Amino acid sequence: MSTSQPLVIVGASYAGTQLAASARELGFDAPIVLIGDERHAPYQRPPLSKGLLTGKTTVEQLPLRGPDFFVDNSIDLRLGLRATAIDTTARRVMLDDGGSLDYGWLAIATGARCRPLPVSGASLEGVFDLRTLDDALRVSDALSRARRACVIGGGFIGLEVASALSARGAEVTVIESQPRLLARVFPPVMSDYVESSHRKHGVTLLTGRGVRALHGGAGGRVEAVELDDGTRICCDMVVLGIGVLPNDELAAQAGIATGNGILTDALGRTSVPGVLAVGDVANMALPSITAAGGPARVRLESIQAANDGARAAASVLVGHEQPFAGVPWFWSDQYELKFQMAGLPLPSDQAVLRGDMAGDRFTLFYLRDGALAAAHAVNRPAEHMLARKLIASQARIPAEVLSDPTADLKPFSSPRPHG
Ligand code: NAP
Repeated sequence: MSTSQPLVIVGASYAGTQLAASARELGFDAPIVLIGDERHAPYQRPPLSKGLLTGKTTVEQLPLRGPDFFVDNSIDLRLGLRATAIDTTARRVMLDDGGSLDYGWLAIATGARCRPLPVSGASLEGVFDLRTLDDALRVSDALSRARRACVIGGGFIGLEVASALSARGAEVTVIESQPRLLARVFPPVMSDYVESSHRKHGVTLLTGRGVRALHGGAGGRVEAVELDDGTRICCDMVVLGIGVLPNDELAAQAGIATGNGILTDALGRTSVPGVLAVGDVANMALPSITAAGGPARVRLESIQAANDGARAAASVLVGHEQPFAGVPWFWSDQYELKFQMAGLPLPSDQAVLRGDMAGDRFTLFYLRDGALAAAHAVNRPAEHMLARKLIASQARIPAEVLSDPTADLKPFSSPRPHG
């Protein structure tokens, strides 16, 4: 394929922007058009559920790239524009302004959207999703008038929002349908730790509870959340953090293989030649993460996966293929706690604690068949960085060494001998 044919990237968040940047870094010299359906230039998302709500971060601090980046790199950034269809035979993307773009390469980086809450009252005023900058500005504005907030969903969004709302003085209740917080990410010991941290800060936690309906007053504003047992919790605002759905419909309608996202290999290649998918929408087959019978398929919802996946996809554009192979990692800030997660633990892993849980400085390591597979650190940034290296090299460290806070783990980080 000629490299003079344009690369069209649909979606201008982390993955789309990184793909454009990496393509240029690697010498891709054809035109690049990056389209985003929001009115804002690409921006950082982590502060939306943290600093932007507490006031520690301003909107001016959010841009992902400086003002000259797109011009200097000949990246044609078009905002407020939505792709409506893809014709993979004609290699053309149709747009909601009536226009279209011809492509040589197409990258779909459409991300994910908030899962809707399927109960009556979910569209009342005062009920908010939190995914985009505009969402966060609405939550922040409502918060300045709210005294009592309900957060539905005890995942990372819900818990970060709970910590930000309580820091702003609101009375907060978190309602989570799983029997414990972060049940799909953390083992019970970590969920217990997170729960006690939130309780210490005065947040009410209701786990294992469903929501039956949201109720509003005469003005159409939310006034209460009704639980599955009929209990009503009065509130002035509700924030939803109940997970996301991949925006893969555009791809599916174009005949590109999907299934919980767009199916790709570790290079971001989809089932259709010339079409790549990156970021939250990509369901990657990753040889670096094995499942019974071969590479596991995972749709990683993290900034690191978006960036590293985009770098891998950019390598395809210039014919020097470098598959995504890193250890997945992400972080979360709640109160004074910095959670840093590396690797994907399994319930069958052996968990080994290093450090002081009561003192809020520890790492929970996970050994799988004797090799380090994952680590969850709290306020231990150096240990998290080391853990990523140790996991990448599948370091074999005895549990008694891992649990000894005086034992040096660095010598275990050398590459694993082969053979
Ligand atoms: P999440 O991690 O999937 O957590 C949502 C939680 O809400 C799950 O425990 C879910 O249980 C529960 N839930 C679902 N329906 C519910 C209902 N009707 N009532 C009560 N609880 C319900 O999703 P999230 O926290 O909304 O995060 C969304 C996205 O933001 C993800 O892409 C995430 O990676 C990203 N994010 C990341 C960070 C970070 O890395 N620090 C921070 C914020 C957001 P089930 O699992 O049973 O559905």
